[in-house]
Amino acid sequence: MSELRWDPLDRVWSLIATERGRRPTDFLPPPRKPVDRQRHPCPFCLIIAGHGPSTRIHERKVVVDRRVVDRVLVVANRFPALSIESPTERRQVGPYDSISGVGAHEVVLETGQHDLPFRRFSAEQIAAVLLTWRDRVADLMRDRRVQHVQVFQNDGPRAGATLEHAHSQIVATPVRPPRLVRQLEAARSHWLEKERCLLCDILAYETADTSRRVAEDPSFFAFCPYASRHPFEVHIAPRRHSAHFTALSEDDALGLGRVMQKVMTALGAALRDADMNICLTLAPSTQSFTRDRLGLEQLDLFWHWRLEILPRVVSYGGYELGSEIVINPTSPEDAALHLRTLLD
Ligand SMILES: [Zn+2]
Ligand SMILES: [Zn+2]
Repeated sequence: MSELRWDPLDRVWSLIATERGRRPTDFLPPPRKPVDRQRHPCPFCLIIAGHGPSTRIHERKVVVDRRVVDRVLVVANRFPALSIESPTERRQVGPYDSISGVGAHEVVLETGQHDLPFRRFSAEQIAAVLLTWRDRVADLMRDRRVQHVQVFQNDGPRAGATLEHAHSQIVATPVRPPRLVRQLEAARSHWLEKERCLLCDILAYETADTSRRVAEDPSFFAFCPYASRHPFEVHIAPRRHSAHFTALSEDDALGLGRVMQKVMTALGAALRDADMNICLTLAPSTQSFTRDRLGLEQLDLFWHWRLEILPRVVSYGGYELGSEIVINPTSPEDAALHLRTLLD
């Protein structure tokens, strides 16, 4: 029986249609074509070796037992979608609004090892990437023009990646994306009504119910969300209420790194290394506007960050594009059960 499910965090419906009877093995990704790296050297390897043209922004060493085992390097995107140098210019064009593309577009080169995909990173390597994201987000949010920072990773062509070398991207915009606006409204109205954080409520329920639980440790909880839009979608959130990802400690990063490693190993086994996206759901910048004006005075109480791991095994069709309701052929309960079996 198919079922429409409401996601209270995102305020969207998803259509769980399991009678399509798809198993994880039905989602086999197309084989990845190897690139001849002798003839076409990897541009990221060149940058890491100091040969490619690049603007270095940030660097973090991965240290294990007092030995540097890897490095995370942040550079400016050579073909940026947005640029920090442009002045902010707002104008009206008839019924339309336009703002100049001021912002930032950075690339995080997550490892010096070309053939090491993110899903095979050690917990220490993942932690170094998380701490790099934290530092860059904090820095970009200091710019008063920035309203939102999106951190994301595209792994594989179906997830939008054009290069196979493990990397993530950070985009800072002068506007708040519609999804964030919806999520803010949902979290705020829940808090106004109940004086509780919506995601804290969801985590309490999912911890007790366990049917969608995937993995956990004392600080982080990973689960397949009730209204999952993607087969085998997994969300990970801090168990204790935490509004700002920028407050992530080194211990938190290592703990989250271990939970992510478990989840990605299980996902890799279930979906044979399918392509995937990772997205951070972060609070908006509160430097650039007054919290008061936007009803965000209590942001620290109602906002709770999370990380989303989204395997890209089905494509969107006209129904999804037309309605914004996504058809998901795998129930989150089946997905979580399958992932738990692989982890035990
Ligand atoms: Zn490379
Ligand atoms: Zn919370």
